[in-house]
Amino acid sequence: MNDAKLTRQLETWFKANARDLPWRLDSRDPYHALVSECMLQQTQVSRVLEKYQPFIDRFPTVQSLAQAPEEEVLAMWAGLGYYRRARMLHACAQGIVKNHAGVVPNDVKQLEDLPGIGRYTAGAIASMVFHQREPIVDGNVTRVLLRLHNKSVPQTDKETIKWAWQRATDLVLAADEPNVLNEAMMELGATCCTPKNVRCDQCPLQSHCQAFASGTTESIPLPKPRAKQKRMYCATIVSTQEGSVLLEQRPASGMWANMFQAPTIERDDRQPTSAEIGEVLGIDHQQLTELGQFTHITTHRIVEFVVYGADGVQSTQSRAYRTLETLDQVAISNAQRKAMDVAGIL
Ligand code: SF4
Repeated sequence: MNDAKLTRQLETWFKANARDLPWRLDSRDPYHALVSECMLQQTQVSRVLEKYQPFIDRFPTVQSLAQAPEEEVLAMWAGLGYYRRARMLHACAQGIVKNHAGVVPNDVKQLEDLPGIGRYTAGAIASMVFHQREPIVDGNVTRVLLRLHNKSVPQTDKETIKWAWQRATDLVLAADEPNVLNEAMMELGATCCTPKNVRCDQCPLQSHCQAFASGTTESIPLPKPRAKQKRMYCATIVSTQEGSVLLEQRPASGMWANMFQAPTIERDDRQPTSAEIGEVLGIDHQQLTELGQFTHITTHRIVEFVVYGADGVQSTQSRAYRTLETLDQVAISNAQRKAMDVAGIL
């Protein structure tokens, strides 16, 4: 495979075919690039498109993000999932203010030392913003490389990842414009060399691609072994009064850490009974009305929700009524928004 020829073809293709994405318009702003890279991890571009600009409008600088209360950062992240990323981005902004006088560093090692910044994000910022000859590897890049070399292996294997970083390094060294090459590799994986329905007829690398020549594109990479999902049972009680809904905050660690929810009782063996719910909320269980059920699936969990309505649940030190109009400013998980939807308040 001729790396110099391949990278040139890819760079030319990207310049003519890159999608217009808002973070590309201001890609020389390292803070904006940091936000978009964090949002894009494991999240579809269409969803990031809805959330990116409001987040930047609310936190226009690294300083404004660093100073914001975590609750507000989580609220602006609501809908993107994987809230750990929002916390890490927040901690990262604080690290940049504390250790780099509010200026995003341009060095890969200094970037990697910041909270939440892994090798991929550090490479992306160093290469795409500061135009350094640094490789980047994400799921899209790995898939493209495996197909180019017709390597039929799982893409998350340690050996595969090591190999992909080495190949990405070779390509970046052969590129005319490493920043363009890196974005082009990711764009190719997102638009042509997709996991399914591969569009080889539109691919600039078809003549270099060994999987295309062998007819094996769709079977590469090998499927990942499925993560074992834990089943959980949640009873969520939606109590309203005078245009407000009762909310509580989750613990600071574990699933949906620090996020707000309608009072929820969780068990890992069975649904909580109405007597158990009544006892926790300090109400007669006959006040509960079942409103509906749904299943929420995450990478690691299958959560069976039963949603109840109940009037007159008292607020306590840990539970307070919040007006419905302000709910979009509260950090509430997608699962809890679904529960409130079942109760007809969203
Ligand atoms: S030819 Fe097809 S499989 Fe090969 S890199 Fe291009 S899109 Fe991917």
